[in-house]
Amino acid sequence: MTLEQQDLLAGLNQPQQEAVTTTEGPVLILAGPGSGKTRVITHRIAHLVQQEQVSPWRILAVTFTNKAAREMRERMEKLVGVNEAKEMMIGTFHAICARVLRTEAEHLAPLGLSRSFVILDTDDQNTLLKQAIKELNLDEKQYRPATIQALISRAKNDMHGPDQMAELATKYIEEVAARVFKVYQKMMRKNNSVDFDDLIMLTEQLWRREPEVLKRYQRRWQYIHVDEFQDCNLPQYKLIRLLGYGTDSLHEGLGNVCVVGDDDQMIYTWRGASAENVLRFERDFPHTRIILLEQNYRSTQTILDAAQGIVKRNSLRKDKKLWTAQGDGEKIIVHEAYNEEQEGLYAAQEIVRLLARGEIAKRTDVAVMYRTNAQSRALEEQFLRMNIPYKVIGSRKFYDRKEIKDMLAYMRLLANPNDDLSLLRVINVPNRKIGPKTVGELQQWANRQSSSLYIALESIQAHPTLGKAAKNALETFHKLIKDLQGAIDELHLPELLDRIAERSGYGPELRAASEGEELDRWGNVLELRRVAEDYSEIETRSALELFLENVALVGGADTVQSGEDGSLIREETTDAVTLITLHAAKGLEYPVVFIVGMDEGSLPHSRSIDKPEQVEEERRLAYVGFTRAMNRLYLIRARRRSVFGETQYTEPSRFLDDIPPKLIAKRGGGVTPKTNTSSGQGTYGNRTQGRNVQRGYNWEDDFNQDPYGDTGGRVFGRGSNPTTSSTRGYSSLPSAPKSRGN
Ligand code: ATP
Ligand code: MG
Repeated sequence: MTLEQQDLLAGLNQPQQEAVTTTEGPVLILAGPGSGKTRVITHRIAHLVQQEQVSPWRILAVTFTNKAAREMRERMEKLVGVNEAKEMMIGTFHAICARVLRTEAEHLAPLGLSRSFVILDTDDQNTLLKQAIKELNLDEKQYRPATIQALISRAKNDMHGPDQMAELATKYIEEVAARVFKVYQKMMRKNNSVDFDDLIMLTEQLWRREPEVLKRYQRRWQYIHVDEFQDCNLPQYKLIRLLGYGTDSLHEGLGNVCVVGDDDQMIYTWRGASAENVLRFERDFPHTRIILLEQNYRSTQTILDAAQGIVKRNSLRKDKKLWTAQGDGEKIIVHEAYNEEQEGLYAAQEIVRLLARGEIAKRTDVAVMYRTNAQSRALEEQFLRMNIPYKVIGSRKFYDRKEIKDMLAYMRLLANPNDDLSLLRVINVPNRKIGPKTVGELQQWANRQSSSLYIALESIQAHPTLGKAAKNALETFHKLIKDLQGAIDELHLPELLDRIAERSGYGPELRAASEGEELDRWGNVLELRRVAEDYSEIETRSALELFLENVALVGGADTVQSGEDGSLIREETTDAVTLITLHAAKGLEYPVVFIVGMDEGSLPHSRSIDKPEQVEEERRLAYVGFTRAMNRLYLIRARRRSVFGETQYTEPSRFLDDIPPKLIAKRGGGVTPKTNTSSGQGTYGNRTQGRNVQRGYNWEDDFNQDPYGDTGGRVFGRGSNPTTSSTRGYSSLPSAPKSRGN
């Protein structure tokens, strides 16, 4: 027996022990962050296996993210051994359901699905929705796929099919969405595919309709655990109910269900999470043992008090006690930076300082968190510059993101039309009906002439076998690139980027796809444009080349070798700082946490600012972020951000006002240049100043506030750009790293 195994119960406080040893019957643990909920689950499972001799095979643990599942598995390997851990089912709802559905594939046959069904990602989903919209002769501009997708997803989360959705529709758009829903489902099944929501829905249906199948799973998974229960949506809840309790008529579940959660950390209501699940649980599982955990083992009192200050203002919440034995610790540092670059620079410098002073031992002790993925760009840039290895969790590194690679491919193609690789990357992005077969023909045509693909396109009308439609599509593409090349002499680099986005049709497509909360792909393109703004004052052709060169250096910074297929393999540096969105950070903890973008518009997000219940969700998101920190918390904001080449002055996040001032360290602001009228305190200071300055144009208002309006087609180019600071020049781009990070 290892030391860890012996200490199973010894390392737990009294209510935690109670939770671990109450193995039979339903258990509900509602408790604040860092109180050991996740620890209770792992120890409970270990206890079941070691003390109660339960076969690991009978254990199910549902986590919210794949990363959390990996971590739990690692934990279990340490506690009970690798082989035992292998037998357990630990995974997200989606992963578990996919496994069940593949195992039970025979039951899916009537739906037209086979064992090898494909799980659609958001891009595929979008493509399919567009086809469905077209098939119904609807105008894609009027009924945007992203809007329809959100409505369909909501219906699925409410467990409604197309017919029910149509019946319940109260708006015209919902009626339309219900029609699209029907066609979309049919198309998916024809392609032997399912979307993420389907994984849950289909498993729920299968278990509800096939008692024999359900019984098998009830017998197999006799001990059920759910982490982050507050973020379950209705279908996910129903799965747990079916497994642990049974159907309405057949109650054969064993009822050994342990769910843990914290309603103050509910950050997925937009995906159907609801506080009602707790009530449902108590109703559906009679005699539930409710256990409260009040001691926090993660954070200092200062961090806890600051976090409490924020979430306390939410209505409709039960106040929970939370205390720590760790003492006050360091004060919270609030820093106001001049702009986004300085924000990243400050974080990077602070990390170097903390390491040098020995306050942290390794880079993995630090996480930098932000509200939207696009915010990682400015951080990545400064980290590369300062040679600080980092990893981006929950999304790709900025320059690895598809839309960024696509936009860069267009730019490369303009710089060098004979760049076949780039041409191939974008020839059908967005979809121009240039399929693989046509591309194959084009490649042969080019081979025969020993020319590049671009040159071969010039004479494509003379191709002997290609159909007329294909030829025309290719010719149109050729003309697009040619016209865009012509624009190099007319426009500055950022406007050239605008032109590419609009004329290619890629911009409108991305805007339409960017409504989902996690998928801010258009926001990423705008971020790329921001980088291009630094080149506004250089002659465009040189600017284009310089830009591409610098970007290639950034993108390649940690690239070490090629894979067999020529693809680049990235070296995973193990000791790296974590960059992560607040959503993805749920459940994790780090000794030092930086949160950037503590501004109105970023956190709370501009999309949520006018809706009280959404501001409450943003509050919870900030609460989740704060409570990831163990020892030190930095809150950083940028006084100005550049959007569309316009400088936007920001106001400090309202959440900063909710932190008791005595918890905040007073610091001089060395980083802030004196060009601004602010008090220059270095802390967030002067709110009235922010209110008086022009709010600036906020693109998100246009693209996100009005999900049903037709605001997607707006061209965003705005001519030259008087307010961009010329002192920035292009010096804010990283130079080639001197050595790779270790
Ligand atoms: P969150 O709501 O953020 O997910 P949580 O309630 O799941 O938090 P855990 O992550 O399980 O909290 O625990 C927080 C930290 O406290 C972990 O590092 C955990 O190992 C530690 N911890 C929990 N309980 C104890 C205990 N009784 N003794 C020592 N450390 C503990
Ligand atoms: Mg947890």
